[in-house]
Amino acid sequence: LVEVRDVNKHFGELHVLRDVNLTVARGEVVVIIGPSGSGKSTLCRSINRLEPIDSGTILVDGKPLPQEGRDLARLRADVGMVFQSFNLFAHKTILENVTLGPLKVRKESKETAEKRAMELLDRVGIANQAQKYPAQLSGGQQQRAAIARSLAMRPKVILFDEPTSALDPEMINEVLDVMTGLARDGMTMIVVTHEMGFARRAAQQVVFMADGQIVEANSPEEFFTNPRSDRAKDFLSKIL
Ligand code: ATP
Ligand code: MG
Repeated sequence: LVEVRDVNKHFGELHVLRDVNLTVARGEVVVIIGPSGSGKSTLCRSINRLEPIDSGTILVDGKPLPQEGRDLARLRADVGMVFQSFNLFAHKTILENVTLGPLKVRKESKETAEKRAMELLDRVGIANQAQKYPAQLSGGQQQRAAIARSLAMRPKVILFDEPTSALDPEMINEVLDVMTGLARDGMTMIVVTHEMGFARRAAQQVVFMADGQIVEANSPEEFFTNPRSDRAKDFLSKIL
């Protein structure tokens, strides 16, 4: 469903993605881990074209990423993104946040969009918060609202960039539980996270990045019990 082929990217002198290759099958959950600055966020942002790449190809559902315009809006609908910082619109209610994309991009009727938004808010466990504003919700609730907003666009794949890093410990699991549920339901997901429990539970593939390169990609069992590279061993010894 997502194919990243020989992708390179620079920020000025800095070579942040080096010949990156990654294939994500439909229904697969890929967890990306690696030290700070290794290029994990840049890779995610490249996949929904928040960042342009210098060379290589990225295909989503067999089609190369569009350059601009209407096609870009469609891509952003197909490739959802959930950020560390939630990125909800502060002056809109939770319900309005979730219906905005379907109304504007998918051109759904208000009735259809609201009905589906309420179903999604129910699915992530915050239907009773629909009329509130983001600041009135806990961090875990806001992140679940952000996930519902992403789902409302019926994406083919969702990118999660450290979705629980900004949360207090007691709220991390409520978000991970929602993500684990999505994984079980067959959603294709690319997840940058330090939550190794989630990786073991939900991922088919763990990708370890360092210095802009994919150093290892393996099943979670194999990666965690038998990391091959010294970089991965060193990284795991620090976080586990
Ligand atoms: P972290 O775990 O800290 O989130 P990361 O693996 O997500 O790190 P990236 O955010 O992808 O790393 O950054 C990779 C490198 O590119 C870093 O050295 C970073 O400083 C640099 N970088 C990221 N964004 C930009 C930018 N817009 N302009 C210049 N340099 C950037
Ligand atoms: Mg990052």
